[in-house]
Amino acid sequence: MTIAFDPDRLTLPNQHFIGGEYVSGDDALELRSPSTGKLLGAIPCADAALVDRAVVNARKALETSGWAGLQPRARLRALYAWAELIEREAETLAKLEAICSSRPYAAALAGDVMVTAEQIKFFAEFADKEAGTLVPTADSQFGFISDHPYGVIGAITPWNFPISMAAWKLGPALSAGNAVVLKPSEMTPYTTLYLAELAVKAGLPAGLINVVLGDGPTTGAAITGHAGIDKVSFTGSTRAGAAIMENIARTGIKPMTLELGGKSPMVVFADADLDVTADALVTGIIPNAGQFCVAGSRMIVEASVADELAAKLSERFAKITPSATHNAEAGFSPIISEKQLQRIDSIVQAATHQGAELICGGGRFEHEGAFYRPTLIGGVDETNPAVREEIFGPVATFQTFETEEQAMQLASHPTYGLAAGLFTCDLSRALRLTRDLEAGTVWVNRYGRTRDHILPTGGWKASGLGKDLGREAYLANRRTKTVLIDL
Ligand code: NAD
Repeated sequence: MTIAFDPDRLTLPNQHFIGGEYVSGDDALELRSPSTGKLLGAIPCADAALVDRAVVNARKALETSGWAGLQPRARLRALYAWAELIEREAETLAKLEAICSSRPYAAALAGDVMVTAEQIKFFAEFADKEAGTLVPTADSQFGFISDHPYGVIGAITPWNFPISMAAWKLGPALSAGNAVVLKPSEMTPYTTLYLAELAVKAGLPAGLINVVLGDGPTTGAAITGHAGIDKVSFTGSTRAGAAIMENIARTGIKPMTLELGGKSPMVVFADADLDVTADALVTGIIPNAGQFCVAGSRMIVEASVADELAAKLSERFAKITPSATHNAEAGFSPIISEKQLQRIDSIVQAATHQGAELICGGGRFEHEGAFYRPTLIGGVDETNPAVREEIFGPVATFQTFETEEQAMQLASHPTYGLAAGLFTCDLSRALRLTRDLEAGTVWVNRYGRTRDHILPTGGWKASGLGKDLGREAYLANRRTKTVLIDL
């Protein structure tokens, strides 16, 4: 086994980052490595007064630097300098990502960190390319729509892809001329802190990015309820999204973008290429051990090919082995915490108690750390919690159908509508069903995002409000004003 880095020799920033400086606080929340269970340290939990300090610093940074009013290419150049520093510091960032999150070092380095730098450049490029528009009016009038940054964006991110989620929020917000107060997940704060530190080192105004550490009910609620936060941008569970909506309704209406949970179907017809499909289904549930919002956690397969496909999947799942995220060859992720592993296992056990069949997997690996076996559950219907609830683990249900109509009924989820996969070689069926599926993203004969940052992502139904990535994410960080002048 090759060790990519020694976790004991890493210096961890366990402090808030406000106004361009680290700010200490009392140890409040413990952090553990999901790969080894080892205690890494403790972080403080920002109260309302500290969140207020961060908001005041963000506003001051906007005023003193004139960030929103800069020549747009000056914002572009500053963000490019930050992205280039991120590329130079990629190894440190990947180590900080791998130590406390579920991201294996190699994937974090080649994927998450480098993609973060690329996304910051992608969003920087909008700075001088989007503007308001003139509107047609009567000759006696002059009308236009101008657009403006919001001011201070309050961003809250989850633990599953910590640096990527921070980049999804920071890139468009800063490029559009805003400052940000960001609360990363209390389980994975390090790369977000280091991103903010690198921004100041690259020359961005101190206070433009403020990172406050803490939990959801204390720090998160203080951000969403703060009168000085002009817009909230959240990624996390539907449960927390609902709590945020409630808090915003109670404390003063403000706009919000919510990227929430999912329970996405992958529908396979008998005419699909079964080897290509089996590989795609693996990429739909195995990366990050299924801990990603668009995980294809419900496989819905035409009955005539179900046995053959189940055998191909079982064979692929059986080859997957665990390894701590700080090892060079680590590929399969640990579950983020022991508590979350227990939750996954209890859903799998409840499913089997209700008569479901374990096609493969079930239970944890006999290995140090919180690693769960890739699992496929058959013989279930929509009343089974394994089919209804977001499991957030390497666990998929396997249901069969006889007709296209039945397939579409099974694919539809009563609340979620984040993503869907469709596997068929029949072009007209693919186009017809792409139209009918209730999901914010549909993939055909593939599953998962590409690195085309121009493709927006976001959910239908209880999976969210608004979009991240793409031009939509940039525009979501600006607000418009309609102007009509009598000449
Ligand atoms: P979570 O909702 O528990 O926490 C997400 C963040 O919200 C954390 O920073 C947390 O501290 C904070 N938070 C929790 N309660 C809050 C409250 N009442 N007010 C303000 N902030 C609060 O989610 P998680 O377990 O970190 O992440 C997993 C979830 O995120 C899954 O449901 C997954 O589907 C979702 N997710 C969605 C997307 C997407 O693009 N749709 C992307 C990644 C993850």
